[in-house]
Amino acid sequence: MAHHDLIIKNADICTMDANMTRIQHGYVVVDGETITSVNEGSVPAGVEADTVIDAEGQVLFPGFIDTHTHIFQSFLKGLGADHRLIEWLNRSALPYGKYMTPYQHRLAAQLTCMEAIKSGCTTLCEFFYTDQDPELADGCIAGMEDTGIRSVFIRTFQDCGEDYGMPACFIQPADKAMEEVSRLRHDYADRSDMLSIWTGPDVTWSTTKEGYRTMLDYCKSENVRYAMHIDETEVDDDMCQKHYGQDIVPMLDDMGFLTDHMLGVHCVNLTPDEIKRFADNGVSISYNPVSNMYLGSGAAPIREALDAGVNVSIGTDGAASNNTTNYLESIKFAALVQKGFTRDAARITAPQTI
Ligand SMILES: [Zn+2]
Repeated sequence: MAHHDLIIKNADICTMDANMTRIQHGYVVVDGETITSVNEGSVPAGVEADTVIDAEGQVLFPGFIDTHTHIFQSFLKGLGADHRLIEWLNRSALPYGKYMTPYQHRLAAQLTCMEAIKSGCTTLCEFFYTDQDPELADGCIAGMEDTGIRSVFIRTFQDCGEDYGMPACFIQPADKAMEEVSRLRHDYADRSDMLSIWTGPDVTWSTTKEGYRTMLDYCKSENVRYAMHIDETEVDDDMCQKHYGQDIVPMLDDMGFLTDHMLGVHCVNLTPDEIKRFADNGVSISYNPVSNMYLGSGAAPIREALDAGVNVSIGTDGAASNNTTNYLESIKFAALVQKGFTRDAARITAPQTI
């Protein structure tokens, strides 16, 4: 007789292996933290487990990875609706972000992570930008760890941006911000792969050229990954043209900023040339379809990015521009937005979306 910790039986299994093998009636065996076998058919006599879950009529996937959210925004659902990005930021996310406490960040993290887990996520990438008090980050991480979710905590920075409405309390020199990233990496270093610390510029209008360079030097010397909101709206290129005489992606490319350690979030306004630059340098994209519709930002060129060989993932974005952290809903939108805006029902198929 074989005895295991957990068996999930009678499931329709999406294995997500290289061939996208699907087992329409099968069972999965788990021992400790390891999936020990994925099998076709019914559980044979003599194979038992401490816990048996009957998944009859249900589909079983590997855990989803939500590659972009802002946890504190789970307390801001519905606030700031019907505005485009900058107005929405200045009416909703930024003013509230100034006043939330570490304890509130912890509660928001618990709520966000439970919503994510309920919709199939086992990993959440938190893009954290309320940087006025280091204890806020600790509160957020504590709340994520309370739920057992695997997390990527992206401690971003802003070294300018008051003229666009960035609260002065968030702004600090990039080298000071990297000291805080170092502190987090040191304090949470023993979490194995359950918690990773990344960094990144928050948005283009809150980052100086010197700030990009300082962060890039740090990330290259310490082998740290980074993410940034990029080309979510036309503001990024407008602002960069005004200050630096270049669009944001070519400017970052010239600086050596586009690397395989970078996750570009949104990328709604990428041109064919910019998609090629992403592909050539191994930059990944986090596609946030619900948020892009909510804020009237537009449809990201995801088919084109995939065809160019760019690695594309899906994020929910913060709940203040989504009203939920329901990942299944974002997967659905991810396909529908691409189909609808191009009038091509096969633009992205279900297996490709998954
Ligand atoms: Zn975001």
